[in-house]
Amino acid sequence: MKSEATAETRTELAKGYEHREVEARWYPVWKARGYFHADENDRERPPFSIVLPPPNVTGSLHLGHALTATLQDVLCRWKRMSGFNVLWLPGTDHAGIATQMIVEKELQKTEKKSRHDLGRAEFLKRVWVWKEKYGSRIGEQHAALGASLDWQRERFTMDDGLSRAVREVFVRLYEEGLVYREQKLINWCPDCRTALSDLEVTYEEGHQGELWSFAYPLSDGSGEIVVATTRPETMLGDTAVAVHPDDERYRALIGKKVVHPLVDREIPIIADDILVDPKFGTGAVKVTPAHDFNDFEVGQRHGLEMLTVIGQDGRMNGEAGPVAGLDRFAARKKVKELLAAKGLDRGTKPHLLPLGRCQRSETVLEPLLSQQWFVRIEPLAKPAIAAVEQERTRFAPEQWTNTYMAWMRNIHDWCISRQLWWGHQIPAWYCPDGHVIVAREAPASCPTCGKGGLRQDEDVLDTWFSSALWPFSTMGWPDQTATLSTFYPTSVMETGHDIIFFWVARMMMMGLHLMGEVPFRDVYLHPMVRDEKGQKMSKTKGNVIDPLVITEQYGADALRFTLAALTAQGRDIKLAKERIEGYRAFANKLWNASRFVLMNLGGFSAGGAEARAEARTPADRWILARLQRTVNETVEALESYRFNDAAGAVYQFIWHELCDWYIELSKEALYGDDARKKQGAQAVLTHCLETSLRLLHPFMPFITEELWQTLQAQVGGRWGESIMLARYPQKGAVDEAAERGFGPVLGVVEALRNVRGEMNIPFKVALRDVQVGALSPEALATVREEQPRILRLANVEGLALSGAPTQRVPGSAVAVGSGFEVRVPLAGTVDMAAEQARIAKELARVESDLASLERKLANPSFVERAPKDVVEKDRARAEELKEKRRRLEAHRDMLAEAEGTTMTENPNPNPTENPNPVPTQTSAPVPDAPVSQPAAEQAPPAQTPAEAAPVTPAAEAEPARAPAKKKPAAKAKAKPAAKAKAKKPAARKAAAKKPAPKKVAPKKPAARGRGRR
Ligand SMILES: [Zn+2]
Ligand SMILES: [Zn+2]
Repeated sequence: MKSEATAETRTELAKGYEHREVEARWYPVWKARGYFHADENDRERPPFSIVLPPPNVTGSLHLGHALTATLQDVLCRWKRMSGFNVLWLPGTDHAGIATQMIVEKELQKTEKKSRHDLGRAEFLKRVWVWKEKYGSRIGEQHAALGASLDWQRERFTMDDGLSRAVREVFVRLYEEGLVYREQKLINWCPDCRTALSDLEVTYEEGHQGELWSFAYPLSDGSGEIVVATTRPETMLGDTAVAVHPDDERYRALIGKKVVHPLVDREIPIIADDILVDPKFGTGAVKVTPAHDFNDFEVGQRHGLEMLTVIGQDGRMNGEAGPVAGLDRFAARKKVKELLAAKGLDRGTKPHLLPLGRCQRSETVLEPLLSQQWFVRIEPLAKPAIAAVEQERTRFAPEQWTNTYMAWMRNIHDWCISRQLWWGHQIPAWYCPDGHVIVAREAPASCPTCGKGGLRQDEDVLDTWFSSALWPFSTMGWPDQTATLSTFYPTSVMETGHDIIFFWVARMMMMGLHLMGEVPFRDVYLHPMVRDEKGQKMSKTKGNVIDPLVITEQYGADALRFTLAALTAQGRDIKLAKERIEGYRAFANKLWNASRFVLMNLGGFSAGGAEARAEARTPADRWILARLQRTVNETVEALESYRFNDAAGAVYQFIWHELCDWYIELSKEALYGDDARKKQGAQAVLTHCLETSLRLLHPFMPFITEELWQTLQAQVGGRWGESIMLARYPQKGAVDEAAERGFGPVLGVVEALRNVRGEMNIPFKVALRDVQVGALSPEALATVREEQPRILRLANVEGLALSGAPTQRVPGSAVAVGSGFEVRVPLAGTVDMAAEQARIAKELARVESDLASLERKLANPSFVERAPKDVVEKDRARAEELKEKRRRLEAHRDMLAEAEGTTMTENPNPNPTENPNPVPTQTSAPVPDAPVSQPAAEQAPPAQTPAEAAPVTPAAEAEPARAPAKKKPAAKAKAKPAAKAKAKKPAARKAAAKKPAPKKVAPKKPAARGRGRR
């Protein structure tokens, strides 16, 4: 098995990064070599386990699956590389209603037959055939994403083992009195023709209905009593009229009777202080125990007749007198007409009500009285509450704890029988005498009366019943397997917050009851993926992003990285295609940087790194310190499920510090004649790149394996057979002195770039006689040592360094940084007149654009009538233009001053007015708005002044706060909000505000039957 697939080892990288080629190569290799397989007998390594939420067997990969797979694969790969024995267990769910409906539809289309035409056995055969044909699709799609699932352990909720577990649980709970069968009111879908649990009901809040009043004549002819209803057809099932016992208006009527106007029946007037609110409506309430949840309870309290008048097909049945046979909604109209004809109509009022619909078919549900199986939930909920209180299971984000608790404390018994064919048939049999036998295997005869001819219950169990057992049924339960003893409880349950009740809560109850221990230690509930505007993705809106299309177009690595980078706690994911494009550019950048490193490793071989340690320059020590800092940040973020922070840290380091800074800094040594220095730079580059690849591997598994393997072959390293098995970078002490000490070097280069950007000086024009002053003794030493790099990166000819302030020179730009100041003489470098003309022209254009835009926005009819987003766009554009105008004016003023004899030392004496307090960023993109960037070696930052952020005159701003002063440069860069908005202080302030954790109101269990009256 192991030798089946081998990937050829390459020592050279293709010129361009082709994700299709790279991503096709590695998955088969990893799988064939058994890297995904967990060892249940391993007692050495600590276990780490996750069960994949089983996607529906009907499913095709959507973004929710892609997010789940990405986050779980990140955790599993990170843990595997960190020395854990990792089990990530895959499988699929039989998805009762969904699958049955698909096969029924197909049957209808191809053979014009219903499932009843085929009969149960034949129909089920067809479903299995369908499952064999299409059921593996979603597995293949997970493979395309790079999910390192243990395929040898793949399960299906209806395979033999899991079916056995389901029967075992049902029988045990029955024997313990926790499963029972009873005639009760349940939510019924007349379209799906099945009972549903409370959770499968979607409430349409605030549905516009009407409250219709009619009179019941008293049987003694002494008057009438008026009641109101939103469902007039149910009056045919009324078996009482209730009033409040303290209501003076009706006290005398209690015990009397009314005559049913449509059927031959008398109905008692009863007193009930729980149901009746004397202040609502007339204070008298019709009672329909068989068709309303609250009335059902009244019926039980008062021993009322439970009269069913609506059938399972949603039509009025034989008990419905004059409307028998009519559909329930047609009957509603008819009943009103009939009562109006009898003069009993007492008027209609509009009324808002919550309307319960079937989650699947959207049909209005009908509360129906029927014989169903239930799980007695309270005894199971108690330990599940305690376990969370005791923090044996913890929720992340933490706010979900309250949601979970609120639901668990108000939980109703769970209706688990479904009137379907596809699913686990309930292991209950009935003898001809009506004895019930619940058993693990089909009994031959009734143990009570000895009769044969037993009939199995035709219903199947709710699909969620089998999913509730998933963490242990998949590991071989009820047998005591090695897998269970090694991997249960699982480490993390990672899933969407939308199924916290459906699934997470029920797994908690079942796990605790049957295994005696929580099913998982941590629950991480991920946010929902929405479109860029925060709207739900839906086919009708046409805003769906298909992960399979994205994977083909940009690569699985880019999609995975995007999803991880956007997964922030407590916020929905707003996904725009540009994000994915941006992270595809990141992969490109990494590829090109790696290629540059590989091409410059001539004569270098791995090993002997220590000998080169003392050859390290301040730049070397700085990048190594930054690398360690990044490792620490990434690992800490992963430990607390801050996926966005982890991805952000790796991204910032690789793109900005390694590619944009260090590679540029190292060129001096790489291209120079000093063999010792060259080897030193090669060693540091190799080390940083190799470590970065390991750090990034959980997020982008394919490209990192490709680059890592090639790098290893190139330097003759003996790192291992796969990056998947290499050790994940470990947290450690950061050389803070090296990190901080290099700050002035970066700061000086950035300051010079800003002067260029602001003064529009192209890179090819050298800056002459530049002074750097006010340096501390240590900074002076470092800047002096790195002087050649500064000259090169900023294209400077003539650099004077000093601990003293800079010498005044007429017509110069001055930039003050943290711990240094820079002075650039402009005479001879800048053509003042041409520049002034250019500015004037541009300023005029901006003025005119702004004026016309402002006229438009001042027009009330435009603002009122135009689509909101159009108006908003225009407003934003106006702000942009104002900002641009401000910058141009500042630039103009500065030129004017520089031209004269006045110093431009501090044209903006008030530092609080500094419009750009955030360190300006010379190199390109930020995580939340990545832009395609040319390859590192082709476009060092210093050669792309146009990309610099020349937002203020150099003299005015503090253009380059020393990056490693207090917080390292990358730290500031790592705050995407702050950076992206750097040009708009006001907007930045708003963005910096911590988003309030999204409050999700617990689904009110009391919602059942609300307002049905
Ligand atoms: Zn339905
Ligand atoms: Zn019997």
